[in-house]
Amino acid sequence: MKNEKIPYNIYLNEAEMPTAWYNLRADMKNKPAPLLNPATHLPVTENELSNIFCEELVKQELDCDTPYFEIPEEIRNFYKMYRPSPLVRAYCLEKKLDTPAHIYYKFEGNNTSGSHKLNSAIAQAYYAKKQGLKGVTTETGAGQWGTALSMACSYFDLECKVFMVKCSYEQKPFRREVMRTYGASVTPSPSTETEVGKKILKEHPGTTGSLGCAISEAVEKAVTSEGYRYVLGSVLNQVLLHQTVIGLETKTALDKYGIKPDIIIGCAGGGSNLGGLIAPFMGEKLRGEADYRFIAVEPASCPSLTRGVFAYDFCDTGKVCPLAKMYTLGCDFIPSANHAGGLRYHGMSSILSQLYHDGLMEAVSVAQTNVFDAAEQFARIEGILPAPESSHAIRVAIDEALKCKETGEEKTIVFGLTGTGYFDMVAYEKYHNKEMSDYIPTDDELKVYLDKLPSID
Ligand SMILES: *Cc1c(COP(=O)(O)O)cnc(C)c1O
Repeated sequence: MKNEKIPYNIYLNEAEMPTAWYNLRADMKNKPAPLLNPATHLPVTENELSNIFCEELVKQELDCDTPYFEIPEEIRNFYKMYRPSPLVRAYCLEKKLDTPAHIYYKFEGNNTSGSHKLNSAIAQAYYAKKQGLKGVTTETGAGQWGTALSMACSYFDLECKVFMVKCSYEQKPFRREVMRTYGASVTPSPSTETEVGKKILKEHPGTTGSLGCAISEAVEKAVTSEGYRYVLGSVLNQVLLHQTVIGLETKTALDKYGIKPDIIIGCAGGGSNLGGLIAPFMGEKLRGEADYRFIAVEPASCPSLTRGVFAYDFCDTGKVCPLAKMYTLGCDFIPSANHAGGLRYHGMSSILSQLYHDGLMEAVSVAQTNVFDAAEQFARIEGILPAPESSHAIRVAIDEALKCKETGEEKTIVFGLTGTGYFDMVAYEKYHNKEMSDYIPTDDELKVYLDKLPSID
């Protein structure tokens, strides 16, 4: 099919969907560092983690060697309701930019949760159900993860308790109602429902919350409720594993037409969509079979890769979770209230952190108004209203395409369009009214939190 014109939409059929998730860690020479017990600073055991997470997910979390995990049939069947997701050739954007670059995007916003998060939510709910649990707890920032998990839990008839970062709870009442439609209970965080929530409220009265706080609350609730476990929508190895459906589908679709990308771009909050998108390509790079440029894009207001340090840190503000070695801004860092809620996390996946540390991936940070410039440009020509998070990737894809225009290079650029922005119209409104700020923390502000990192020897 090599010389055929590439269609706008490269469709795959059901039979071409992946039947196994790809575990990138199996091909990494430098494995991501193990999670540590916060009390003993020793690597966490399967047993310890099983008090917090579902058993099968603990196995996936700790396994750095098995290259493929079969996707259970029930999960594959659920995937078939909204996957394979489209891989779109952005002909219209290319024309508008007048660039010789070829631009493709993998669109994950075509399900009700509006983002890629459903790919892992359905897997985590499946394993919780299989273990005979009553329900799960979680946190949500912008609300996409909470929505995805609510959908997944209602499908498997599980209870779902969501701690939602307070500023999002207030800014996005409709997200909250979608979650309740799917049967979840939603609590603004920090709350007085947990000990850690009460403590945070006492220390920071009037705080609008953060993902780190909400995680602490959700974990406490899970370990103190019978038949409950905690689930997380990003950062963890298991989540990156589930999200490899994105990259595996992308690779199959590109291979069908003999297309080899030069640059692969994704936004990075905790790293799950980016990790999932690049995994099969990074695998080739690690095995010496092919070379690609990978670019992680993060907000300038929460720049964990570009301005954080590579060290062990707590995953949550309440310091109840295991320690992870990652690029971090410090677990007490609370980013300014920007509009890409899904990217406001102080740390980054250990897998991506290690790859970045080893020079296998690049990272850039972008300011908020520049991101919305790109979002609007994209919406007007490609017909999709992108999520603010996804628009970070759009920004850099456009920038790279414009560089090609200068040099005349015909590069192939693939980026992850992780979701839609219908619930983010307040952000778009601020942008249109020119009320959007580009708050970027100073080095001194970051230092306050970086100085407080735990010392691990
Ligand atoms: C949550 C979210 C992200 C960021 O999360 P990652 O784990 O870094 O992928 C990006 N885009 C959308 C639409 C999201 O909902």
